[in-house]
Amino acid sequence: MTSTPVSKRSDEASVATSRALFDRAAKATPGGVNSPVRAFQSVGGTPRFMVSGQGAYLTDADGFEYVDLVSSWGPMILGHAHPAVVEAVRTAATSGLSFGTPTEGEIELAEEIISRVAPVQQVRLVNSGTEATMSAIRLARGFTGRRKVVKFAGCYHGHVDALLAEAGSGVATLGLPTTPGVTGATAEDTLVLPYNDVDAVRTVFATHGADIACVITEAAAGNMGAIAPEPGFNALLKQLCTANGALLVMDEVMTGFRVSAAGWFGLEGVAGDLYTFGKVMSGGLPAAAFGGRADVMAKLAPAGPVYQAGTLSGNPVAVAAGLATLRNATAEVYTALDTNARKLGSLLGDALTAEGVPHRVQYAGNLVSVFFTEDPVRDYAGAKAAQTWRFAPFFHELLARGVYAPPSAFEAWFVSAALDDAAFERITEALPHAAAAAAAAKENS
Ligand code: PLP
Repeated sequence: MTSTPVSKRSDEASVATSRALFDRAAKATPGGVNSPVRAFQSVGGTPRFMVSGQGAYLTDADGFEYVDLVSSWGPMILGHAHPAVVEAVRTAATSGLSFGTPTEGEIELAEEIISRVAPVQQVRLVNSGTEATMSAIRLARGFTGRRKVVKFAGCYHGHVDALLAEAGSGVATLGLPTTPGVTGATAEDTLVLPYNDVDAVRTVFATHGADIACVITEAAAGNMGAIAPEPGFNALLKQLCTANGALLVMDEVMTGFRVSAAGWFGLEGVAGDLYTFGKVMSGGLPAAAFGGRADVMAKLAPAGPVYQAGTLSGNPVAVAAGLATLRNATAEVYTALDTNARKLGSLLGDALTAEGVPHRVQYAGNLVSVFFTEDPVRDYAGAKAAQTWRFAPFFHELLARGVYAPPSAFEAWFVSAALDDAAFERITEALPHAAAAAAAAKENS
């Protein structure tokens, strides 16, 4: 892969095609995008309209090439247009796009997930991570006969009404206090606690234990930046859920099959009762899943009374992409992901240190984040207290030099196994400029 020289800047003046597309998109679609963070609202400027991706690189509509450190927000661990995945999709598509009947591939994908994540005994395929978490909490409520759901501030579980309270990701990026359209009754059954706060968890169970259907948590937080659970935190959740007859829902939509072959479970070993997956297991097409204990999953229709369904669930093309991705995610791929994450983190840290910018590079497995603060960030309050105003200039210097970072201070950076020497060279050349811009940033400017 040849790289565009790093000196070729994709500044506002040179991305006229993306600008025109964004203006046109804004007429047809609210805010010009189909998912809020893509609009660059918190960093300003023109969102780049991408036309192709190959390996670790994206190319935009004006012909600029970027090293991709977003990986479609997680799925593309093998890089873009991986030949085996493309071939699997081509073969599946040639046989028909959707049948609305069961297919063998769905069993294979379910079996692949079950074989990797020991606490998962059965799986139901859905179309998005949002659908997975929505269905998982409905199932938890149906199974337990209870109403309340405990979640953590800064964790994002998709745009499920009951789970949007103090959510991370785009809700954090846009600084939205609450979302109109979520009724008080829905929000009332959601109890929001600070992440990594064992006392708060103990207290909520002491107060509401008999009403709690489930605790849902990101197995490791990635939607307020990368914040790993402190040692013992997930284990305490498991212990208190079990002691109180509640279920632990481990949301591994982001971490699943990325941070290890078995996701965060593979790194930590704390078993949830239910799991949600998406991103990597979709291969980049719309597919997701939830699964877990067989006795809980048995309550799901048509085996049981808790209803859940989907016209395109288990879509054969999406299943083929997911299966091909998982089957090509070898031990070498996971080693490369870990190595690339550490390398990226060190480069980030070195550049910011050289410019004297207060920062912390944090990891949750191979998720990486940079926070502009010297204090360890262990929860949403800590993430918000960082000097997030340094992020936009930092981001834009990287972008101008052909490095595509997440356009938000509250998102994790996602490496792929496809990042090559040329990609790291470009990151290395771009970072000092970005760090200098972060150093020069002024609050409220
Ligand atoms: N859960 C987590 C942990 C996520 O990171 C996301 C999306 O980023 C979701 C759920 C929602 O997934 P989707 O965007 O596919 O609806």
